[in-house]
Amino acid sequence: MKNTTNPTEPTELTKCQCGAITVNIDGNDYSMLPKTFDELFPNQNSAEIEEKFFSCNYCTNHWGVDLCGCGSGELFQKCYNNLPECKRPAQSIENGIKSCYSDNGWG
Ligand SMILES: [Zn+2]
Ligand SMILES: [Zn+2]
Repeated sequence: MKNTTNPTEPTELTKCQCGAITVNIDGNDYSMLPKTFDELFPNQNSAEIEEKFFSCNYCTNHWGVDLCGCGSGELFQKCYNNLPECKRPAQSIENGIKSCYSDNGWG
């Protein structure tokens, strides 16, 4: 029933032991902290998401919409590696256009 939902509304919400939430949007997985989730998706409630993963891209691969693109695992803009990749987050969700820098080519 896609026609009733905003294209950027996530499905398959899951929470990991590390605290990060992973959502599926149009077949792509995005991970983020609950704080970021609540900011991005005000219609959803992060507190209601069931915790069922022991690991996720956020904690194992350092991929997340609020994580630094260099893969350091630091929050975006809180990383001081000063690499070109630090200028962008590891993942981004913008107006229905999804970019993921998570595979080894860094986009
Ligand atoms: Zn995790
Ligand atoms: Zn960085």
